[in-house]
Amino acid sequence: MTDSDHHHGSCLCGGVQFETTGPLRDVWACHCGQCRKTSGHHWAATSVPLDRFSITAGETLSWYDSSPAARRGFCSRCGASLFWEPRDEDRVAIAAGALDRPTGLRLTRDIFIEDAGDYCSCGAPPPAAPAERPTRLDCSCLCGAVAFSLPGPAGDIITCHCSQCRKLSGHYSASFDADETTLSWHRREGLAEYRTPGGGQRGFCDRCGSSLWFRSAAGEFSIEAGSVTGPTGGRLAEHIFVADKGDYYEVTDSLPLAGGRDSAPR
Ligand SMILES: [Zn+2]
Ligand SMILES: [Zn+2]
Ligand SMILES: [Zn+2]
Repeated sequence: MTDSDHHHGSCLCGGVQFETTGPLRDVWACHCGQCRKTSGHHWAATSVPLDRFSITAGETLSWYDSSPAARRGFCSRCGASLFWEPRDEDRVAIAAGALDRPTGLRLTRDIFIEDAGDYCSCGAPPPAAPAERPTRLDCSCLCGAVAFSLPGPAGDIITCHCSQCRKLSGHYSASFDADETTLSWHRREGLAEYRTPGGGQRGFCDRCGSSLWFRSAAGEFSIEAGSVTGPTGGRLAEHIFVADKGDYYEVTDSLPLAGGRDSAPR
């Protein structure tokens, strides 16, 4: 049970669990390049002073030094993007998607919107057509230990608000279908796969925690839009599993919504 003064959260596999006490900051959605790579779309987080935060299970918690000023915490077993911790401040930013509902929180700001993906309109209706249509998409994790390319452009990009995608991305996911046989692999030293309860596999980097792709139990393959470096040439087309969405945000861009019955769990 969560009330306004006590929150619990976890990664998807449960290897990392944490608790907070006292009020949490409003949720901010960050579109910076680092948050896009690690989350696979964009990352949304609250923030709490370190003395009101405790890790209650940390068996699979890993940290990646993403800059001289901050590190990012993720689960090395399922790949969930969980924490951002600045070195010179006694606080930690926590993925809103990792918190148990009800969170009692509201998303109030989008930050670094100048760095947002070309497919992302930050809540407004998306543009009629992408500005660029790249013929090749270069994808990588944040640390560079996983890199691949494939023919572009990305085409339709689907956001998924299911609880798995929320736990793993830290907010919700955005991905596009791809033919896996067209991928050219450049580096895969950091590549790890997590088998989901539905029998799918999630590809992520076990050094930096970046979400990269999903392969369903039936073999359908999709790539996280945030893994693309530069323009995707894609366009947001639909939201799925909106009945499962987080309670701290609304879907406001007027795209088609699907509750989930017609879509395979990711
Ligand atoms: Zn996990
Ligand atoms: Zn990496
Ligand atoms: Zn999903």
